[in-house]
Amino acid sequence: MSSASERKDFAANKQLRTVMGDYFAQIGRGPQEGKKTAWCTSVGPAELLRAMGFNVYFPENHGAMLGAARMASDLIPLANARGFSPDICSYLTSDVGSYLKGATPLQKMGLEGLPKADVLVFNTNQCRDVKDWFQWYAREWNVPCIGIHTPRAIGEMDDSLVKYIAGQIEELVAPLEEVSGTAFDIDRLRETVKISRQCTVLWKAVIETAANVPSPISFFDETIQMGPAVVLRGETVAVDYYRLLLDELNQRIRDGVAAVQDERLRVYWEGMPIWGKLRDLSSQFLAMKACVVASTYCNSWIFEALDPADPFQSMARAYSSIFICRSDDFKENYIQRMVEQFRVDGILFHDAKTCPNNSNCRYEMPQRLQQKLGKPFLIVNGDLNDLRLYSEEQTRTNIEAFAEQLAEA
Ligand code: SF4
Repeated sequence: MSSASERKDFAANKQLRTVMGDYFAQIGRGPQEGKKTAWCTSVGPAELLRAMGFNVYFPENHGAMLGAARMASDLIPLANARGFSPDICSYLTSDVGSYLKGATPLQKMGLEGLPKADVLVFNTNQCRDVKDWFQWYAREWNVPCIGIHTPRAIGEMDDSLVKYIAGQIEELVAPLEEVSGTAFDIDRLRETVKISRQCTVLWKAVIETAANVPSPISFFDETIQMGPAVVLRGETVAVDYYRLLLDELNQRIRDGVAAVQDERLRVYWEGMPIWGKLRDLSSQFLAMKACVVASTYCNSWIFEALDPADPFQSMARAYSSIFICRSDDFKENYIQRMVEQFRVDGILFHDAKTCPNNSNCRYEMPQRLQQKLGKPFLIVNGDLNDLRLYSEEQTRTNIEAFAEQLAEA
């Protein structure tokens, strides 16, 4: 039982812990089992890596774990001392700090430390930081670092861009064969892309249940529930998990169970989560009877363009269609659609100091959207991981005032 001010747990959470625990255990066992480990950026070519038999590890997920465990602020200075600026991605700096200190939440999951990569594979569709991050480890371990260079601020996706990116993905095959010692098999890739798409379709359906009033799920739940979509796309275990979760959400809708008891306000979260403060923020929103019903962040793991009939081209299209690498016009239209679909009352923009790439309030977008949609907005200054850049008191007060403004609107 939960009180009105507590987050309502999902029965599926038990299975979620098993799925995530098994994933990390598999990563940890990799070397003993003779499996090679590939590090992959969040929207890197995970399907290709899986199809080629790699264990696929996502360091941004580790960055988020360091933030959520509130270890990041202590670890970041270690990376700063090595020459990484305090102004760059705090996933990068906390992850490198974690490696230098030999301290990681992964140790609680049975791993000795960060899993050593046999190859690091990036996609710059989100930012340049991921490439610099991976290259540091490549030098450290003397292993190859390869990747895809995607343009930023893409307006309309056109065939020439898709062809350009698809060509880069295909060029990864030969060096990956060399590392893995296995020959590339197109049928295995088709199958992995098919499973990955199933995961995407289900994750989208999960997220879209929040369009119901009241919403059965909040952004704060989704930041946890997205785990399998982030680290296990292309594996059937993720598909099975989202079927289970979706059933529970549909049951919640039938029973009128709300994520936020007596929901009275609906908010869109734009930008990165503040990992070390999710619990506090969730409690504050619960107390205000405000539900964060949609977010750019959790929507970023939807890759509908994937198509097993044309794996390379469709991966290229899917990876280059994500919000973060699109033009401001595209982003504005996207947020407008979300605000309408999820019946949002106001938009909260998180200006994450160390991630300009995923902070969209610096070039007048909130003001333009307010003019267009007539919805109030709030800008919260903070960071994804570096809590030294976040003022608890100021944020709390600003969010309270924002809720009052929404209630009066
Ligand atoms: S998008 Fe932002 S948070 Fe993600 S890796 Fe790049 S700089 Fe870091």
